[in-house]
Amino acid sequence: MKTLTLTFILALSLSTNAFAQDWDNIEITTQKVTDDLYMLVGEGGNLGVSIGEDGVFLIDDQYAPLTEKILTAIRKLSTDEIHFAFNTHFHGDHTGGNENLGKKGIEFVAHDNVYKRLSEGGSPKEALPIITFNDQLTFHMNGIHIKTKHYHSAHTDGDSIVYFEGKNVIHMGDTFFNENYPYVDVDGGGSWKGLLAVVKDTIDNIDDNTKIIPGHGRLSDKAGLQVYYDVLMDINHILTPIAKQGLTLDAVKKLQPLKKYDGQYGNGFMNPDTFISIVYMNILNNLDK
Ligand SMILES: [Zn+2]
Repeated sequence: MKTLTLTFILALSLSTNAFAQDWDNIEITTQKVTDDLYMLVGEGGNLGVSIGEDGVFLIDDQYAPLTEKILTAIRKLSTDEIHFAFNTHFHGDHTGGNENLGKKGIEFVAHDNVYKRLSEGGSPKEALPIITFNDQLTFHMNGIHIKTKHYHSAHTDGDSIVYFEGKNVIHMGDTFFNENYPYVDVDGGGSWKGLLAVVKDTIDNIDDNTKIIPGHGRLSDKAGLQVYYDVLMDINHILTPIAKQGLTLDAVKKLQPLKKYDGQYGNGFMNPDTFISIVYMNILNNLDK
């Protein structure tokens, strides 16, 4: 019952947010990450754009009403066609523009579960990935190797991290909410433990000069990701023993065990109450796994 209520509230807040938007006032800003690689920010998930001799490679596309603004921003970087577009996961603030772009003939690539969730969710054919993969996939274009790696059950069950090999840049999708509490979409196949594992594995595979485009929040780097990981691990260390005692969610909330982080990290998509509800219940339900 609790899970249902929470899902309902989240769905409601997401859709309210989408409908209440005054799209005309949203600006797409472009930040250069390194040569021929850019992060675009508007409303919704951060975009990644690689340009070069083989065309544009786009990561995620925010919401449908922003498609034309996004295309205008990309055209300022390159007049070439978008050769491939990639979805880091299925959420609407990262795939909302798929249908518009698909109708223009742009081909989407994503993990198998992105296809599954979008198609089962009723997305039209044009919004679906045309190529899907189950583990890893590499694009050889623009003089670099763009490697995508799937992690099962983290933010969702279809997350991919994109490594721009040769540029030392990665796009982490929503496995990284920079400077905010992360959202674990349990109904979408995500898990708290899986999220911790992605972040740890990513830290182990990058260096001090790696630049990181997070799903949400400012451009970051290994030091920024390490801070995020330390906070998540501390939260895990705080909540796990309480879960082992079997406290109810209401009792945990009264304890305010994450109070020291709420002010700094609870102002994004996850407010402190929703965050602890999702994470505590997910820890509690997976104690013996
Ligand atoms: Zn997401």
